[in-house]
Amino acid sequence: MKDSVLVINSGSSSIKFQLVDPSGGAAVADGIVERIGEPDGLVTLRHRDVDAEHRGPIVDHAEGLRLAFSMLAEVGLDLAGAGIAAVGHRVVHGGEVFYRPTVITPEVLAEVSRLSALAPLHNPANVIGIEGAMRELPDVPHVAVFDTAYFHTLPPRARTYAIDREVARAHSVRRYGFHGTSHEYVAGQVATVLGRDLGELNQIVLHLGNGASASAISGGRAVDTSMGLTPLEGLVMGTRSGDIDPGIVTHLRRSAGMDIDEIDTLLNRRSGLKGMCGVNDFRELSRLIDAGDEDAVLAYQVYVHRLRKYIGAYLVELGRLDAITFTAGVGENVARVRADALAGLEGLGIEVDPVRNTAKGRGARLISTDGSAVAVLVVPTNEELAIARQAVELVRAG
Ligand code: AMP
Repeated sequence: MKDSVLVINSGSSSIKFQLVDPSGGAAVADGIVERIGEPDGLVTLRHRDVDAEHRGPIVDHAEGLRLAFSMLAEVGLDLAGAGIAAVGHRVVHGGEVFYRPTVITPEVLAEVSRLSALAPLHNPANVIGIEGAMRELPDVPHVAVFDTAYFHTLPPRARTYAIDREVARAHSVRRYGFHGTSHEYVAGQVATVLGRDLGELNQIVLHLGNGASASAISGGRAVDTSMGLTPLEGLVMGTRSGDIDPGIVTHLRRSAGMDIDEIDTLLNRRSGLKGMCGVNDFRELSRLIDAGDEDAVLAYQVYVHRLRKYIGAYLVELGRLDAITFTAGVGENVARVRADALAGLEGLGIEVDPVRNTAKGRGARLISTDGSAVAVLVVPTNEELAIARQAVELVRAG
């Protein structure tokens, strides 16, 4: 039986790919094409114990995918004979149209492309990735899994911006939320780790990677999330500002003479930790903090302050809280962030155990004290596996 799924995640200048066994969860092969469009392109991949690497310019996503496929063949992976049941594509913005995994037809692809207006940094790359993979594997079903889908259930009060309703309707301006595949996967894992029913849990999930988002989840359904129309709203991120006064945009336009693209670049690429202290990787940030760099200390304080604001807001929204969970690169690896985000909340029944929090571990784990009313967890996210499972489920159902 065909039982593996090729998962493709195309970003603005990179393509991550993984061949996954959706039942066991093991990655048969995985790799990444990086720095597409730059002179120093790089492809790295691993299949079983064999590593391969290619360095050199990669003009576009289509060439990046071709290279990746031919390198997979060189390391002994014959995709045509690998028993691939489906190709799962991460698509960032599903707009108001897509809220379930969807088999990609020419019409679906045209709609994803049309939604580029809502996600100009992401959807065009997703479209190119889909086209390239369909050329390479034309006889396999391709499935789009949308980052926004999980937040389809946001109640109107949480998804509506307080702006003129006609403008909002005419331009699809509402809160969509992103990282949905991760929030959903992690919330499910929490129920498994705690041995409880997902349906009875009130949870906060903190996906803290280079992009970062928080969500409030009740009974397995998302009731609020920090990202909005675009993945720019909410928490402080590696290079994105998160929440700002929208008046800053008009101020910079009028007073600094910046055009709209410059402001877009400022907020998406030159803000967040990087904007405040020059680095966006938490390992470098920690080194700067330990060396006494004042900008780094302030950037960290702003980061944690914003995180605590969202935790407080979601705690009140949910009313009763069972679990708070950290995931993604920062959430899984930086004990200091976890400790500081929840410091002093014993009165609210939230108590992190310092030994459990700093213990080395890779899997899902509990880091709260035995007496903590709210469970605090670290759960590694696995968006590729979640995409693979959703893709194969759809294909088998059809
Ligand atoms: P992600 O977007 O989930 O891949 O997360 C990437 C970010 O996680 C990086 O930019 C780092 O800030 C952070 N990160 C990943 N691994 C570590 C680690 N071992 N220690 C500290 N920070 C890490």
